[in-house]
Amino acid sequence: MKKVIKTKLYKEFRCIADQCSFSCCEGWDINVDEDTYHKWNNEQGPFSKLCKNIYKEKEEEETVYKIRMGKELHCPFLDEHKLCNIIKDYGDDYLSNTCKSFPRIENDMEDAIEYSVSCACPAVVDMIYSRKEKIELPHTIINRFNDKKLLTYKIRQHMLYLIEAKRFNLQERILLIFSMLLSLTEESSEIEAILEKYKEESYLILLLGVIKDTEISREDSFIEKNELFLDITEDYKKEFHYQPYLEDIARLAEDIDYSGKTLFDWRNYEKFSMEYEELFGACLAYKIYSNCIDEDVEDIIMSYQLIVTEYIMVNYSVFLKWLLNKKKRIPYEEVRNLIVTYSRIIGYNLEGMTMFWEDSFDDAIWEFGYAVALLKD
Ligand code: SF4
Repeated sequence: MKKVIKTKLYKEFRCIADQCSFSCCEGWDINVDEDTYHKWNNEQGPFSKLCKNIYKEKEEEETVYKIRMGKELHCPFLDEHKLCNIIKDYGDDYLSNTCKSFPRIENDMEDAIEYSVSCACPAVVDMIYSRKEKIELPHTIINRFNDKKLLTYKIRQHMLYLIEAKRFNLQERILLIFSMLLSLTEESSEIEAILEKYKEESYLILLLGVIKDTEISREDSFIEKNELFLDITEDYKKEFHYQPYLEDIARLAEDIDYSGKTLFDWRNYEKFSMEYEELFGACLAYKIYSNCIDEDVEDIIMSYQLIVTEYIMVNYSVFLKWLLNKKKRIPYEEVRNLIVTYSRIIGYNLEGMTMFWEDSFDDAIWEFGYAVALLKD
């Protein structure tokens, strides 16, 4: 029988329902599994009327059922107090699998079932932020780290080891991981040796020196970030649900000038953003833990690129907010809402982002130079 491994956050998570400021019952299409769809559809009475709000869509040969959002993109099953009518009238068991599980994540692994939670829920981000020890992952993964057979866990464990290497700044840690993953694709026969190398302090310092000397100007790096931000927010900045978080900063980004003054502001912002670096690092660690679990290294890289893109967008959006706020501190709640926004629009869209990377670079896997351009300080 497989072991069951749960993160502390998973065990302690409670939905705050009508108290939630960024409900998961709004703003995006919610999937309904086929069994639930038929169960609901066979209902008589007022409930069956609501089932008319479910539509079918073809996704890669499969029929997917989705709840059509009502007025102001709210789930039609919500009452005026934002409580779920299905739970009230029928109980939790009547919910679809997606509604039952979100924001919980279940990963059925080779030797265990792992449970964790997603940063697409504001209550989860609040839990991380409020803790002194921000990263609390199950220590049982350390034991697996020593098991020679389970390479997937080993790669993930090395990623977590590097993301927690706080003697380096967060951008450096992210780049060290990306460099390690790319090396694994080039020299697959020496995976063990590569992983060991990325534990050697002297090697990491040498690598960071090479990255620092890379000839990418601050201006080019800034332009890359701004353009990526404009591309990603294009379809969302006017959406009712995301507009409050994205529209003002998207307007600023459209007209931003790439002068020395803006670059100077970016440099000053980096000092300010240290306040949230630990939170950003913790979100990255939790996402690596629950998403970078594929057997194929290229799949791990794409999951990692998704996570890194979310981080870059959150950090850059906080910068734009900081500019709009006359360079005053940005309250935690605004930062949290940006983490949730990008977790939803990027984190659940691997397919769309893969197409975006392929269109932009002909290859879904980034070149190391692109990662450096996005992250070099
Ligand atoms: S986003 Fe999280 S806290 Fe808010 S309603 Fe959904 S599960 Fe509950």
